Amino acid sequence: MTTHPVPDGETSGPPTSSAAGTGTRLDRWLDSYAERTHGMRSSEIRALFAVANRPEVVSLAGGMPFLEGLPLDILGDLAQRVVATRGLQALQYGSGQGDETLREQILDVMALEGIDAHPDDVVVTTGSQQALDLVTRIFIDPGDVVVAEAPSYVGALGVFRAYQADVVHVPIDADGLIPAALESTLATLSREGRRVKFLYTVPNFHNPAGVSLSVERRPQILEIARRHGVLVLEDNPYGLLGFSTEPVPALRSLDDEGVLYLGSFSKTFAPGYRVGWVVAPHAVREKLVLASESAILCPSNASQIAISTYLSTCDWRGQIKSYREQYRERRDAMVSALTEHLPDASWNVPDGGFYTWVRLPDGLDAKDMLPRAVTARVAYVPGTAFYFDGSGADHMRLSFCYPTPERIREGVRRLAGVVAGERDL
Ligand code: PMP
Repeated sequence: MTTHPVPDGETSGPPTSSAAGTGTRLDRWLDSYAERTHGMRSSEIRALFAVANRPEVVSLAGGMPFLEGLPLDILGDLAQRVVATRGLQALQYGSGQGDETLREQILDVMALEGIDAHPDDVVVTTGSQQALDLVTRIFIDPGDVVVAEAPSYVGALGVFRAYQADVVHVPIDADGLIPAALESTLATLSREGRRVKFLYTVPNFHNPAGVSLSVERRPQILEIARRHGVLVLEDNPYGLLGFSTEPVPALRSLDDEGVLYLGSFSKTFAPGYRVGWVVAPHAVREKLVLASESAILCPSNASQIAISTYLSTCDWRGQIKSYREQYRERRDAMVSALTEHLPDASWNVPDGGFYTWVRLPDGLDAKDMLPRAVTARVAYVPGTAFYFDGSGADHMRLSFCYPTPERIREGVRRLAGVVAGERDL
């Protein structure tokens, strides 16, 4: 089994002294870097993750899907067939907006969450990470405000930082983003004359908090955003991965003009193809396509055709069902291990997705503790990665998506040993 996880926390961490990070004395071009690179951060936890990826370490850090559940033999045949029968198209440049057949199929996927759109509304991207980059590129000038949940997906914070946005966090609770808190944050920002460009939200099975925005709150959040003239960026890679409930209506299904919707095949199928998408109103979409063409010319035809063929010839709904069952079993293992070994900590019980968000007891510092955890052969992402200002040290994100239930139990047992050791320090 080869595992080379790229943990979601990898690019997070405290600022380094300069854009070039360590070793700047050797960097001839130090004075030449663009201003915006100063917001790019090197990670002090990256070195630890190199160790965390060793097989003896139980990594509860990465957000990697459990691909062993995929029918690799069938996918192998499919890839061969794609090259043999459609190779001249698959290996050629394609449309900047993305393959039209795939865009039609994406509508079927989104229909599961109540979205009614046209293929022209969809722009295919290289993972939803590229969609985050494109949206930020077309909307953010240095100093503009992005309002985002506290905590927020580390990869999104990295993009916002790279474009010199200022992120203002809004608290969440067990039902997701708190409408009253959003209202007061936007009112304060407006009084201060700050320019808010969009609200970034992960409404389903949040990364890292594991919670979902309740159905009741969805129209309230949209109404508040609309009243303040703020666009909503709905990032939804986990919406189809609920353990006990069917998908709920996406924010985009309630508002065509005020929401940009980001989807991805990374968690419901496989991240290696790097295929995601944005759904956007006409004018925004045109800018996104221009921005994407200047970045990558076009998304990979080979990947798009492979996914399109998978969707039309394989039981993708059955695959998602099987993922849901696997992840539910792992979630159960995580929660029972936490109950047994870390009863003084507090955590949520996620009803879908990949992550548990754990609060350490006694004000312990998860970032500070990480080197000792890695020595004890267990890894996680400290909460600081998920806050723009580096707060959140009393939290950690534990992923249950990749390790087997036995490894999860062993990882949490090791973690409890580390926590006990911290108290004795
Ligand atoms: N958004 C969220 C909330 C994520 O968790 C991730 C991956 N961890 C992404 C976007 C990016 O996913 P991808 O580029 O693989 O579609």
